[in-house]
Amino acid sequence: MADKKNLAKKIIVALDVGTKKEALSLIKNLEGVEIFKVGLKLFTAEGPPLLGEIKALGKKVFLDLKLHDIPNTVGEAVKSAIKHGVHMMTLHSSGGREMMEKAVESASKEAKKADKPLLLAVTILTSLRNEQLDEIGMVSDTISQVFRLAHLAREAGVNGVVCSPQEIEIVKKEFGKDFLVVAPGIRPSWAAAQDQKRIMTPALALQKGADYLVIGRPITEAPSPQEAFLKILDESANL
Ligand code: C5P
Repeated sequence: MADKKNLAKKIIVALDVGTKKEALSLIKNLEGVEIFKVGLKLFTAEGPPLLGEIKALGKKVFLDLKLHDIPNTVGEAVKSAIKHGVHMMTLHSSGGREMMEKAVESASKEAKKADKPLLLAVTILTSLRNEQLDEIGMVSDTISQVFRLAHLAREAGVNGVVCSPQEIEIVKKEFGKDFLVVAPGIRPSWAAAQDQKRIMTPALALQKGADYLVIGRPITEAPSPQEAFLKILDESANL
């Protein structure tokens, strides 16, 4: 049976709510969660001051803005994020090698002044299936596209990738344990899939080797978020 304290550290809760009040209330009601993800919805609503408030509660911030722009702009955005003390942040691997290298360079330079964040490259969104990749002109096979982008991300020097649970095993096998795999698209058997397509249960995703799971609505929209979190830990520990 896995140690629940260690498992808890692997679960990142996505704070996809619209206000600071809701976000802070969720954090205070989720004992045992160490890392909270602030994504586009909350960040555009509340801005950087919220990040400081999350940190003041003793929690780590995963800033999930999925940066995708010209290399210089992404590099500067990484510098700004570092000033806010983020623990992890995302950029799109499809922004290209130079863009990711610039982010890595910025993180290394700025890290002398603050803690260096983990840079994670998003491969293919877990809400996309092969048909949709085809529509946007990408190789219409998510697995090979994830593989290709993960190679590029690794070469550019980022710390790991965000991919669907279905690709955890191949990424781990190819790049080894030090290249982090963060998996969203996590759905306990008792939760609805909603807009996520390439999904898996938390227990199985952990078994396949994910370093972190990102879980949003199954926890945050549950009648009791704390109970949902504990249920996920129980199910994962008993596997
Ligand atoms: O509510 P749910 O568990 O689906 O939330 C998943 C979170 O992970 C969302 O905040 C979403 O933006 C994020 N995410 C994702 N797929 C990716 C990268 C991030 O679902 N490839």
